[in-house]
Amino acid sequence: MLSVKILTAYPDMFPGALKYSIVGNALKEKKWSLDIINLHDYGYDQRKSIDDEPFGGGPGMLIRPDVVEKALLSIDCQNHVTRKLIYLTPAGKVLKQSNLAEFSQFNQLIILCGRFEGVDQRAIEILKFAEISIGDYVLAGGEIAAQVLVEGCIRLLPGVIGQPESLFEESFSNNLLEYPQYTRPQVWNDAQNEDHEVPKVLLSGHHEKIKQWRTNKSIEKTKLIRPDLLVKEKKE
Ligand code: SAH
Repeated sequence: MLSVKILTAYPDMFPGALKYSIVGNALKEKKWSLDIINLHDYGYDQRKSIDDEPFGGGPGMLIRPDVVEKALLSIDCQNHVTRKLIYLTPAGKVLKQSNLAEFSQFNQLIILCGRFEGVDQRAIEILKFAEISIGDYVLAGGEIAAQVLVEGCIRLLPGVIGQPESLFEESFSNNLLEYPQYTRPQVWNDAQNEDHEVPKVLLSGHHEKIKQWRTNKSIEKTKLIRPDLLVKEKKE
């Protein structure tokens, strides 16, 4: 079972989104577990402070390395447990679907959520946290980013998604975006009284043709919106 441990200054932000839908059901069914470690329990003074000013000056505060270490040591780790330590930061490697597949293979994921200006670099290097970003933008804290990462990992675990074949054809498998999809009504009459039909090929029942159409649409869409994915495919 995948055990997820979150180190955070805001424990009440969990389970948050992780309580809902397939990921929440999987948590109830004990397909994975979630433990929240409050960094303030390991604060360095009477007031349980966790942060301090950056050396060299500059705005904001940093989470101290000794606080992170104490919080980390509170997690017990048996020898047979494979664990991955992740610090969420905009200054990290940008998270990819392939990383989620890799992370979901571990027994234990320990995720450090930053706040303020971030975390003392020594904590990251000495305690061996991999620096991971969820995208090229800056959030106020790592908690939502942690939920993004965990949700993405959990849906890949065996038995979490009802129809596992849906994992093979979705966006980023094969370095392509997913083809467009349609459901009922077959003819949608909108508020302007205009009719919009679904592509005819999807109604044909001709599986080969549908497959071909979808592949073409995937490539077309990827070329238009994410040409970088196609370049990557050639390189790999
Ligand atoms: N001073 C930092 C930003 C700090 S934002 C810098 O310029 O790089 C505060 C915290 O929010 C970070 O420590 C991190 O844990 C989280 N965070 C913000 N943006 C993020 C992102 N894109 N991906 C992952 N975590 C992020």
